[in-house]
Amino acid sequence: MNKNKENYILPEMRREANRSRRNTAAECSRFVMSEEAENLGRGKKYYIRTYGCQANVRDGETMAGMLELMGFVMTESVEEADVLIFNTCAIRQAAEDRVFGEIGSLKSVKARHPGQIICLCGCMAQEEVVVEKILQSYPQVDLVFGTHNLWRLPQLLVKVMTEGERTIEVDSEDGDLIEEMPVRRSASCKGFVHIMYGCDKFCTYCIVPYTRGRERSRRPQDILDEVISLKQQGMKEAVLLGQNVNAYGKDLKIEDGFTKLLESCAETGIERIRFYTSHPRDYSVTTIDAMVRYPNIMKSLHLPVQSGSDEILKRMNRGYTADHFRQLYDEMRAKISDITFTTDLIVGFPSETDEQFEATLDLVDYCQFDMAYSFVYSPRSGTPAAKMADDIPLSVKKERLQILNDRLSAIASKRNEAYVGRTLKVLCEGPSKKNQNVYSGYSEENKLVNFTGPAGLKDRIVDVKIEASHSFSLDGSAL
Ligand code: SF4
Repeated sequence: MNKNKENYILPEMRREANRSRRNTAAECSRFVMSEEAENLGRGKKYYIRTYGCQANVRDGETMAGMLELMGFVMTESVEEADVLIFNTCAIRQAAEDRVFGEIGSLKSVKARHPGQIICLCGCMAQEEVVVEKILQSYPQVDLVFGTHNLWRLPQLLVKVMTEGERTIEVDSEDGDLIEEMPVRRSASCKGFVHIMYGCDKFCTYCIVPYTRGRERSRRPQDILDEVISLKQQGMKEAVLLGQNVNAYGKDLKIEDGFTKLLESCAETGIERIRFYTSHPRDYSVTTIDAMVRYPNIMKSLHLPVQSGSDEILKRMNRGYTADHFRQLYDEMRAKISDITFTTDLIVGFPSETDEQFEATLDLVDYCQFDMAYSFVYSPRSGTPAAKMADDIPLSVKKERLQILNDRLSAIASKRNEAYVGRTLKVLCEGPSKKNQNVYSGYSEENKLVNFTGPAGLKDRIVDVKIEASHSFSLDGSAL
């Protein structure tokens, strides 16, 4: 393999930090498969390992679609794969360490399978430190490509497979939005739909604005076409995705763009619509009004708050106060009393005092979240918070996390108890991962339900009588 560093396109996170806000919408192009890439995968197998959020899952589906168009077939076996892709997440250091551990262990696999192509993509690929480490210590990695280069996968594989060239292509600037990309969906009952890419919020702890680029909205018609196509394929649920969906349409100069988009999607008649992730700063109450008006927009909202302390929220650059969040919560509950409300929380952010942590607990008590993703703060290199003194000892961070989780779990248990005896409509995703003898799926309220029932319920919306509750799931029987 050619190891000439000058042939590489390497990431530059600082360019992302200094980027100017977009005044105009991103241009759109249509995906075209080159002739030389077609059939390149005939007789060969691929394996994609995806980490992190649903946006990454959707990217993995696009890569699978491209690979299958090239003639590759999917395998579940790392050993068998001719092309092995690590579709990575950079949100936490632990996830990155795991990826390096797994790539390290592939040296011997590759020795038994000469010609195997190992690729790394996703958010980690956008970090200079990661690419530098790959260049120095992981010669088994043949191809690194960034989040903005994903659509180039077929062409990059042509380069690696036919020219035998080690390739690094990580653009730091986002380019056009590429439409009509092939896709191989991973679920048969619900489909993820990117409505926008990137994030302009620059929360001080978060690496996403550097790895995913500026906020760029897809054109409404392209999104609607994808939702309609899901419906035509018999899918029951469309999940609209963006780092900050409430900012949808700003770059297209559409006022209240997200709510308008949500309503148009609801009018396609698909049975269920959900969306992730909202941001309290851009959130509009019109979104809740749309939920009230359209029965197929599911009554659940994930609204990350991160902290209950105004001082910490300011240092996180979140752009709202705890009181503002409480007001949003009150408005939302007044309009939909039984809405399922979930959030994200970070403990141990730099300088967080006991009192500030208590403020988070107070907010948790106030909002009675159905569920929360809670994390110990860990610095991400290149972000503003990484320059703050990480002065909360790990033992204190862990203790706070335990206290928080106990509180969250008690609230979630209590909220779930109220469902016992009720009948919920559950979209059956198939056998539960933990027990093949029971089905698993999500109710309209976004509650995970494990239930028994006759054969043939997969991909159907089933009435389930709830018989028992746990902190984060319900048990029942199909009626
Ligand atoms: S809103 Fe903040 S936390 Fe969310 S992706 Fe953007 S920068 Fe990261």
